[in-house]
Amino acid sequence: MNTNTVNQPIRHSSLPKLAECPCFEGKPGEAGPAAARGTLLDLAMRELLAGGEMPTEVTGEDAAAVEWAMATVQELAGGAKILSADADCKVTTPGMEHTGTADAIVPERLLVIDLKSGKVRNYREQVAAYALGLMEEYFAGRWTCVLLFCDAREMVVHEFTYEEAEALVGGILKAARDPARKPALCDYCNWCAFSTSCDARMEAVEQTLEIVSIVEPLTMEQREWVVESLLEDREGTARFLAQAKVFDAFRERVEERVKEILTEDAEALPGWKLRSGGTSEVVFADDLKRLVASGTLSMGGVLEAVGNMSGRKFRELWSREMITSEVPAVIRKGAQRAPSLVATKTKPHSDI
Ligand code: SF4
Repeated sequence: MNTNTVNQPIRHSSLPKLAECPCFEGKPGEAGPAAARGTLLDLAMRELLAGGEMPTEVTGEDAAAVEWAMATVQELAGGAKILSADADCKVTTPGMEHTGTADAIVPERLLVIDLKSGKVRNYREQVAAYALGLMEEYFAGRWTCVLLFCDAREMVVHEFTYEEAEALVGGILKAARDPARKPALCDYCNWCAFSTSCDARMEAVEQTLEIVSIVEPLTMEQREWVVESLLEDREGTARFLAQAKVFDAFRERVEERVKEILTEDAEALPGWKLRSGGTSEVVFADDLKRLVASGTLSMGGVLEAVGNMSGRKFRELWSREMITSEVPAVIRKGAQRAPSLVATKTKPHSDI
């Protein structure tokens, strides 16, 4: 039996996670600093779109990120009316009790925009629910959803017909409400209310610990033999990799806590010390564009410094700018990449 008991109404923002694991539930009342920053940047962009001022607590890089987002929304709207007030951006999606709130809606262009801070992640299922609700409200048969990743200055576009959005959202809700649903280990486990209690996670950690306790006292040759024996069982190998991933997630959490402890007291953990980190620096494409346009930097100099472009990015660029013509034969074979291991669909590990 799984210990999942929280059962909150399904939120729009939970849909991408539920698409991975139908048992996922967000941690109640836990808005970390990243979420609080995201909410503040959302508010700042809406304030600017409504003709107001940048909130005083949004400064520096955060203010530049919000300004980029606001300018992008205005460009996408192309002069059409932008709804950004909280009351105008509420979205009720068929089949969901929770009322979502989009960041900006441009009804005339059948367009919804959501600002995201942090890493570029998948939010397709969340915006599909916005699209479905907005198509109902505005009697439309298709809708465009734009995600603005303001830290990376990236834009991701998803387009849905009514049927596509309904099938995607309806499928996730059906699976999440199925009493026989089973937990599926996924990349969202660390954000889940059951991250430290879920049967699937516990089972994975216990089994990995068991293997570690068997292997730890062995000689190198004996360990090699264990590895070779494990590899003979292909299903066992796949299961071991999935379980070890969960174990790694727990180890990472312990490491994060230990870093905090060692920051307070450098001698707190025998045999371990903290190596100081640093902040990376970046120049955004927008600033490079501006410096080239003003003649301060040459286009050739910038391109030389930035270096090569991947074949995928070049194809995307070409199809965006040269819609009808064929991609020229400038894409060459690059360096050979070492193969990497990627988990496909993680199988459920225990009954709920
Ligand atoms: S911890 Fe992971 S596998 Fe377990 S219910 Fe949550 S998301 Fe699913």
